[in-house]
Amino acid sequence: MKAPEQVIKDVMEQVTRRNPNEPEFHQAVWEVLESLTPVIEKHPEFVEAGILERIVEPERQIVFRVPWVDDNGRVHVNRGFRVQFNSAIGPYKGGLRFHPSVNLGIIKFLGFEQTFKNSLTGLPIGGGKGGSDFDPKGKSEYEIMRFCQSFMTELYRYVGADVDVPAGDIGVGAREVGYMYGMYKKLTTLYHGVFTGKGISYGGSLGRREATGYGLLYFVEEMLKDYGESIKGKTAVISGSGNVAIYAAEKAQQLGALVVAMSDSNGYIYDPDGIKLDTIKQIKEVERKRIKEYRNYHPSAQYHEGSKGIWTVKCDLALPCATQNEIDEESAKILVANGVMAVGEGANMPSTPEAIKVFQDNKVLFTPAKASNAGGVATSALEMTQNSMRLSWTFEEVDAKLKDIMVRIYRQTSKVAKDYGFEGDLVRGANIAGFLKVADAMMAQGIV
Ligand code: NDP
Repeated sequence: MKAPEQVIKDVMEQVTRRNPNEPEFHQAVWEVLESLTPVIEKHPEFVEAGILERIVEPERQIVFRVPWVDDNGRVHVNRGFRVQFNSAIGPYKGGLRFHPSVNLGIIKFLGFEQTFKNSLTGLPIGGGKGGSDFDPKGKSEYEIMRFCQSFMTELYRYVGADVDVPAGDIGVGAREVGYMYGMYKKLTTLYHGVFTGKGISYGGSLGRREATGYGLLYFVEEMLKDYGESIKGKTAVISGSGNVAIYAAEKAQQLGALVVAMSDSNGYIYDPDGIKLDTIKQIKEVERKRIKEYRNYHPSAQYHEGSKGIWTVKCDLALPCATQNEIDEESAKILVANGVMAVGEGANMPSTPEAIKVFQDNKVLFTPAKASNAGGVATSALEMTQNSMRLSWTFEEVDAKLKDIMVRIYRQTSKVAKDYGFEGDLVRGANIAGFLKVADAMMAQGIV
């Protein structure tokens, strides 16, 4: 039998050859595979059953045309995607992203990550992801609605409460989910939990909006506890100012941190007295404007063009909550030089592999996204439970369950890392723990 390193190298070569020009997908696959050497050593049966070759190949990839008409009567054509990656442990589950950078490789990286993240939640959900290269910025309300409706006239064929349950991601929030759900219902006449992240009046769950950001902070707090530390009194920098970033900032403040900087894709604000989150919510959630408007409300704050500069702000906690590969090696070195204690990933794959190495080499506590941002999808699964039971839990009930889940994910990730001889390495812990459950289910279900 081949050595585990060779098995992994061969699978990786096949992934790169079969999926050309998809660097984000290669990066996500490599990060998981390189963690798995000790697992392959212990479980040769996974190699014989082709688990690795199968787990890197999506079960189904759907690509479709999305035509829509703007307010001036001009026709536009975008591309829609849904990648149903792995259904070994439950129906496909994962968000939809609307952003001009979206392509098949990005959706595959997100769907692959989602498979292991969903496994870590301990809930019965498989991995999927989707979206479009549509840019919601600057579009009118009716343009957004028409786009969502057109997107759904194709996607509805492939989703369903027990088949595939999408949710939001970058550029897709409660408004877009509402329009897509409305069209789904019209086309199918079904009123069931086909989406999560729905509005509260039609089957959404209290606490879902806050879940990814809050969950991240619960996870980081639990990790800090293990090192005799806590969030209280720490200075935090949080990139982004969307759904994840806003509620990460809210929970960080509730736990006693001073959040001094936030960003959008144009630039970042630095407010040494602490970011006023009500202002951010007003600008981003109500007015849908740029973060530089913050200075109109708080002239003593600074605004800097360019989002990358946020990592030059001195902090104890760095929480990347915007997008993939937003912290590169150079930014990681600056964070370390400025004395960062912990980096908690809220966005998906926000740190490059080189950045992660800098953090690990310098003993910075590091939480990988697939563990620390799993609170969003975990609460989506709680929304699915409430939908099938035809009842609604209170905010407090959902929040308590979320906290339990995040604490459990931290403990499991940290224990698995230790059991495999890599104490404190949560990257390996999360990859191995997430993989094992999916691999076991695939073994049990035969070669399908
Ligand atoms: P939103 O669309 O609500 O917010 C995204 C934020 O990130 C915005 O402030 C946006 O700025 C900024 N951003 C987007 N692209 C870039 C870029 N290329 N460079 C710099 N900033 C950028 O999305 P979410 O908050 O929902 O998602 C953020 C991250 O969290 C993503 O990686 C997503 O996959 C991940 N995630 C989200 C979950 C959820 O429940 N929503 C669950 C788990 C992970 P601008 O407005 O200028 O574009």
